[in-house]
Amino acid sequence: MMEPNFLSTLTGSFAMPAAENPTVAMVEAAYRHHGLDWRYINCEVAPQFLGDAVRGAKAMGWAGFNCSTPHKVAVIEHLDGLGPSAEIIGAVNTIVRRGDAFIGENTDGKGFVQAMRELVDPRGKSVMIFGAGGAARAVSVELALAGASHITVVNRSRDTGQTLVDLLNGKTPTSAELRLWNGTVAVPRDTDMLINATSIGLYPNVDQRLDLDLDSLHPGMVVADGIHNPPRTHLIRSAEARGCRVLDGLGMLVNQGVIGIKYWTGIDVDASVMRRALESIFHA
Ligand code: NDP
Repeated sequence: MMEPNFLSTLTGSFAMPAAENPTVAMVEAAYRHHGLDWRYINCEVAPQFLGDAVRGAKAMGWAGFNCSTPHKVAVIEHLDGLGPSAEIIGAVNTIVRRGDAFIGENTDGKGFVQAMRELVDPRGKSVMIFGAGGAARAVSVELALAGASHITVVNRSRDTGQTLVDLLNGKTPTSAELRLWNGTVAVPRDTDMLINATSIGLYPNVDQRLDLDLDSLHPGMVVADGIHNPPRTHLIRSAEARGCRVLDGLGMLVNQGVIGIKYWTGIDVDASVMRRALESIFHA
């Protein structure tokens, strides 16, 4: 007879708000599918309690956890170290226990690149990315580290946009430039990859559209949207109608989850199980 073991391994997420975050559904689907006695607990943590929550997770032996809005930068001061790309990006979304230490990693951009590689290798490609916030930082740094040759950052606020461009030029091998977003943007013909990393189109503002000349898209481009709710955004539908290959926000979300679970458990989980769990939630 097997020795009974009632002690599950704990992981989870700290965010505020937390109720709308679907990550728990996809991660627990993977744990079940692979027969892991692991749990993922969605926690609503107010900013003033973040340090207590991190110390609590450490005291309870958690294997790690995700951080989402508004904790991705603030959590760093409570950690014992950072992985190399999290160090460059300056934000963390996945914390991993290594020995007694909690180390911060950033899987947002890694998940995006992993999903993108199923369509095209970023090496040598020319990228146009809309947005310069946390998601855009993570995605553009990882694309640069994956060999993208040129990145044009399109952003409405000059300061945030310039900060990202300076980061890419100073700390990665790519060349980057800022295009201020103060009117309709036409995508240059030699662009290989177009990415929406703004919050435009996120539920409930599903009718909000990028100020972008859709007729400048052409079939040689890959068009990606970081928005996962709804997965089929106006941008994704418009790009498909013009013959572009597309990558929706579920691809990024699923792959960052796959990488996070690999960090925690050492196991390569089945991404399709996680994608199906999300598709059933978003009726995709
Ligand atoms: P931030 O708040 O850090 O950045 C938002 C960005 O969007 C800024 O560059 C902002 O420009 C721009 N923006 C917002 N509204 C407008 C507008 N009306 N017109 C022009 N620009 C606008 O958010 P994050 O980067 O953390 O997240 C962005 C999106 O990425 C979220 O919707 C999130 O759902 C998605 N995301 C998806 C993930 C996935 O796994 N699929 C993972 C992480 C994020 P400005 O600087 O001028 O304010």
